[in-house]
Amino acid sequence: MRKLNPFLVLLTGCVIATPALAATTVVNCGKLLDVKNGVWRDKVSVTIEDKKILSVAPWKADVKAIDLSQYSCLPGLIDMHVHLSHDPKPQVEQLRERLTADPIDYAYASIKLAERTLMSGFTTVRDLGAADGLNVSMKRAIEAGSIVGPRMFTAGKSIATTGGHADPSNGLSMAMRMAIGKPGPEQGVINGVESAREAVRSRYQEGADLIKITATAGVLSQASSGENTQFSDEELNAIIKTAKDYGFRVAAHAHGNEGIKRALRAGIDSIEHGTYMDDEAIALFKKNGAWYVPTISAGKFVAEKATIPNYFSPLVQPKAAAIGPLIQSTFARAYKAGVKIAFGTDAGVFPNGDNAKEFRYMVEAGMPELAAIRSATLSAADLLNQSQRLGSIENNFAADIIAVKGDPLKDITQLEKVEFVMKDGVVYKTPVQK
Ligand SMILES: [Zn+2]
Repeated sequence: MRKLNPFLVLLTGCVIATPALAATTVVNCGKLLDVKNGVWRDKVSVTIEDKKILSVAPWKADVKAIDLSQYSCLPGLIDMHVHLSHDPKPQVEQLRERLTADPIDYAYASIKLAERTLMSGFTTVRDLGAADGLNVSMKRAIEAGSIVGPRMFTAGKSIATTGGHADPSNGLSMAMRMAIGKPGPEQGVINGVESAREAVRSRYQEGADLIKITATAGVLSQASSGENTQFSDEELNAIIKTAKDYGFRVAAHAHGNEGIKRALRAGIDSIEHGTYMDDEAIALFKKNGAWYVPTISAGKFVAEKATIPNYFSPLVQPKAAAIGPLIQSTFARAYKAGVKIAFGTDAGVFPNGDNAKEFRYMVEAGMPELAAIRSATLSAADLLNQSQRLGSIENNFAADIIAVKGDPLKDITQLEKVEFVMKDGVVYKTPVQK
């Protein structure tokens, strides 16, 4: 593994690999957010060695440190729901790509999306679905230092049922469907318990870290409903039970109330979007300790695009207009009711890199700033089963540190202007020298 010299990381995001750097790096923070206790600590030095935090202590004199004395340091942010393999495009453009682009074209185009995400302060993401193993390969490329991006946990290909949200043959003509063949468990499409088990095992073989299912219909698929229930209880049970055998957690995309409740009853770990959840669903979340990942940003983005003629297809446009605007108020209800919330945006539905806007939508809906930051640090790390090494700046944690100029506990939009990014002890972005 190549070592990267933090001082040779350019502001453009290009990283120059160099021989080994000094084993220890010190970052002097003007203040540092102790997310666990919910307090700022003044004048803190963070010492980093071999990708990990060695100590968090009062400022040290006579040490050659990275000077963030005028900045507020926070743990690297974590987004529980992204798709680094694409950015939004009008339907005509999408259709053209579908007919002409190869997987490798999508792969090259997505390199900058990963880089943008990291540069905006998100040092860890959960990628909840990509075709052709693209997110798994991207994770490997980032870990190998071949490309720049956040630490990834990936679902590989989302699992759907025939015609369901994430069936790759949706919206194609009969001739096209016949040409590509009927997708099966390998491509993430199941019908019945045997193929449900096989799809989970295929994800294991694919190299995924977790399982993502599309428990209900969705907004952007070429299908009439945005919310109908798409898995039987037996299929859900088979997926979740098999996933547990492999140590996978399971995330469910779900807008419709019945699909949300079925997934919760089957023991799902997180519900994504959750648009039409009712009080019974909220009670099930709490009873099971399931997480809610809201993705307000995606809802707002598609609602806005639904007002532009021909941006979406005639099937998608009314779904985007109806479902998009509801997520923020669902989030407000769920938060008030005490549902556990982990930060997630569905970046890829809107441009990757704009993830931090979600914070302002959460605060607008009634969540205090500190709780919003915790949802993207401590809570997200908990949902990833990584609480012992991610989500906080403390000894033995991964050296993931970001810094902003102001105080995000007073003005949450400061997180949209991250000026310093360190991941695994490597500096990727430093404040512009004036
Ligand atoms: Zn998604």
